Amino acid sequence: MKTCKYGTNRVIEPRGVLPQAATKIDNTMTIYDNELLIDVITLNIDSASFTQIKNVCNKDIDKMAEMILDIVSSRGKMQNPITGSGGMLIGTIKEVGSNFPDQTLKVGDKIATLVSLSLTPLHIKKINSINISNDQVNIEGTAILFESGIYAKVPSDMDEHLVLAALDVAGAPAQVNKLVKEGDSVAIIGAAGKSGVLCAYQAMINAGKTGKVIGIVNEEKQIKQLNELELCHDVILADATNAMDVYSKVNKKYPEGMDVTINVVNVQNTEMSCILITKDTGVVYFFSMATSFTKAALGAEGVGSDVTMIIGNGYTKGHADLTLNLVNNSPKIKSLFEKIYT
Ligand code: NAP
Repeated sequence: MKTCKYGTNRVIEPRGVLPQAATKIDNTMTIYDNELLIDVITLNIDSASFTQIKNVCNKDIDKMAEMILDIVSSRGKMQNPITGSGGMLIGTIKEVGSNFPDQTLKVGDKIATLVSLSLTPLHIKKINSINISNDQVNIEGTAILFESGIYAKVPSDMDEHLVLAALDVAGAPAQVNKLVKEGDSVAIIGAAGKSGVLCAYQAMINAGKTGKVIGIVNEEKQIKQLNELELCHDVILADATNAMDVYSKVNKKYPEGMDVTINVVNVQNTEMSCILITKDTGVVYFFSMATSFTKAALGAEGVGSDVTMIIGNGYTKGHADLTLNLVNNSPKIKSLFEKIYT
């Protein structure tokens, strides 16, 4: 079979689509010469997907394991059929195809894939454990990276689970770095989450002394947490699914609206909160996988908002280095991540 750098030769159905859009891909673990075979250590399931699985299974670990195994055996990849999202993995290299672009990679090198599990051929032999509080699933299994797939070597001086967690959301702080300028007012919805704290840290740097970073959280204890981390100038308690609640609380303090709003929540129906608090000339960055294009587009039109809306691309050049440097440069974030992920 002719091999394709994007892995389309592994698409089973529907024909003609790329692996991410496929409902089933071939997860036969014999590689083509332009692929990489990985012995998987841990999956980091995307937060929107993990939250959906956790809720449907009432936090029952055995049921969650069964659901994950079912998804992978029917799709050939870990793509939640409800959220459509995947996650990332870390593992060690088992085999390098003779035409894989990077021939410096060696069997045994530890890497994190930087492409979504929603397009990565995966075979799970056994689930060893599920960490219900941090979205990570330790498995015995193998995965394949296509020729076009990107990855990062896991630094030997950092914990692999922490690296996996940070790289899962590396696109978010890196995009904040591109979007936020000196003096901007920035709202981060879901600021106490994993990507939330990374985005807040980056926004504080970019907005500088004349800017303002506001965190929006849904639990009282997250206010204390963000204040201790010194990651926001102000933290507002509001439910992001209640657009008028968010709008009235933010508008009362900041009637001029936000220049940039970053959405990093893991639940549906938060589009309008972001749109309502952002200036007409501003930007909303939807990193959340629970975002609906329809709700955002028609919702903005419905309230006469001319805001610019950006789909949260998980990749931007240099995102992995920026994110790992960020964690290493912030002792407070590093120690928070060590507590949660190691
Ligand atoms: P996370 O650590 O679980 O953080 C999500 C945060 O949202 C949590 O602090 C959560 O609070 C908060 N939240 C939930 N419901 C809320 C509500 N109604 N109002 C206000 N805050 C609320 O997730 P993450 O790993 O940072 O991921 C964030 C989002 O990015 C997810 O949607 C994930 O799927 C997405 N993602 C996107 C990409 C991409 O390529 N675009 C890549 C990776 C992840 P509680 O803890 O109290 O629930």
